[in-house]
Amino acid sequence: MPPIINKDTCNLCGICCDICPQDVFAFDNQDPPRVKYPDECWYCGACVIDCPVDAIHLKLPLQMQIVPSPARYGSPGTQEAEALRKAAAFSRSVIKEK
Ligand code: SF4
Ligand code: SF4
Repeated sequence: MPPIINKDTCNLCGICCDICPQDVFAFDNQDPPRVKYPDECWYCGACVIDCPVDAIHLKLPLQMQIVPSPARYGSPGTQEAEALRKAAAFSRSVIKEK
């Protein structure tokens, strides 16, 4: 499912349009961005994270809703464990219900 923008919350800052690596949005500075190319979204979550007013909701496809368990992070302090911890935190932030 492509990103959904809450038009009542959006402040027209345009950050999501600037940050999206896939140019998913179209924006004219007058109205909230619209999702112009929904199939181009790769669910990186950048728009969700950078929106200053939390106006973007992104529901990950089921196959992407895999959050690593802390028990599987590996030995604490290792580079792998830290990478998995960050990936899990990111996944949780993106799939949270608003
Ligand atoms: S999740 Fe990533 S690719 Fe999809 S619209 Fe947001 S910034 Fe663009
Ligand atoms: S980043 Fe958020 S507030 Fe700014 S234009 Fe995009 S949806 Fe609107």
